Amino acid sequence: MINQEVLYRGKEPSAIRKLFEQGKKLKEKYGEDQVFDFSIGNPSVPSPAILNESLIALINDSSDHPNNSILHGYTSAAGDMNVRQSISSYLNETYDAKTDANYIYMSVGAAAGLSISLRAIVSSPDDEVIVFAPFFPEYEVFIDNAKAKTIVCYPDYNTFYPDTADFESKIAKNTKAIIINSPNNPTGIMYKEDIIVEITKILKNKEKEYGHPIYLISDEPYRELIFDNERYPFITNYYDNSIITYSFSKSLSIPGERIGYILVNPKCEDKDDLFAAICGAGRSLGYVCAPSIFQYMIPKVLGVASDINVYKENANLLYDELKKIGYHVVRPDGAFYMMMKALEDDDQSFSDRALEYNLLLVPSASFGVKGYVRIAFCQSKNKIIDSIPQFKKLYSSYT
Ligand code: PLP
Repeated sequence: MINQEVLYRGKEPSAIRKLFEQGKKLKEKYGEDQVFDFSIGNPSVPSPAILNESLIALINDSSDHPNNSILHGYTSAAGDMNVRQSISSYLNETYDAKTDANYIYMSVGAAAGLSISLRAIVSSPDDEVIVFAPFFPEYEVFIDNAKAKTIVCYPDYNTFYPDTADFESKIAKNTKAIIINSPNNPTGIMYKEDIIVEITKILKNKEKEYGHPIYLISDEPYRELIFDNERYPFITNYYDNSIITYSFSKSLSIPGERIGYILVNPKCEDKDDLFAAICGAGRSLGYVCAPSIFQYMIPKVLGVASDINVYKENANLLYDELKKIGYHVVRPDGAFYMMMKALEDDDQSFSDRALEYNLLLVPSASFGVKGYVRIAFCQSKNKIIDSIPQFKKLYSSYT
């Protein structure tokens, strides 16, 4: 018999994917311009010009890449060393991060980075991994695949910051890791320095109490998408036993190209074994060698991002208009998501009602909280403007 667990995963797509597919049908029926698809986090801003220029240069000029005639060949399993060095130098200059290229592993996006990191850390089915709701739904899938238990901590709903008292109470002897994500999917909230300090202080005390490392995995695909030049508290500067999973998917608008990296903090207690376990997990999961042409492109595009102002304008416009109508929304600091309170307790039923107005809003239950919907505003400005009357009609249907 085939594996029922993955059969179930394959047969039951995520709430986001389900809605995305429903959106395609609505577009066929009503026309593209009549449907307001806020379901999926596909970047709407074109990639920066330098990205395509670098790729063309790599293809046209064999002297422009390190492997000469084998541009499309395998790199080292952990990735090309020149590329890893350039990432390390960039991070050290930008965040004073003291990273080391020897502890950077090139990955097939953040999804693979997370799966590999969890596989490297989890060693018993009793192990627990803490996530902060609302969270990216695939975390549960990856934790489950690593055979650990997902423990959910709840937020302060005014700020969508973690409730640190709840967090502290949920750390136990079997806690192996926690995952944080800032700027966050689905809220767009960035964890500023004060909350990072609070979280890491709690973790350090618990590490002492239990006598083993509790790894902090910081999942950072939106790190470059922060609206107001706020200083990003780079996690390795705050906590030794930390791992970063990064992705270029969102910052460079290339989610289809599958490129990112895992960074192990060189201050990690067991850094060499942890990095070796990451290489081993990459090998056993079949992720060895991230796409080579996209690896070679990275040194040319470090520190470059797609035009963030487009997302910022959309965020402000949508936030102001939704507030004016009467909705409760929390202003995002970055990424291209915001959470809106549903007008009834049942978020699925609210999302179903929104569909009647051709608004595709993801119910929050799949992000681990109830009573909200996520709006992915990675759309054209006109689309946002045209959606406002639909949001008004939806609101009126409840009054
Ligand atoms: N983590 C978060 C929070 C995300 O939102 C996503 C994608 O939407 C991922 C990880 C996966 O990103 P990637 O495309 O790099 O696999």
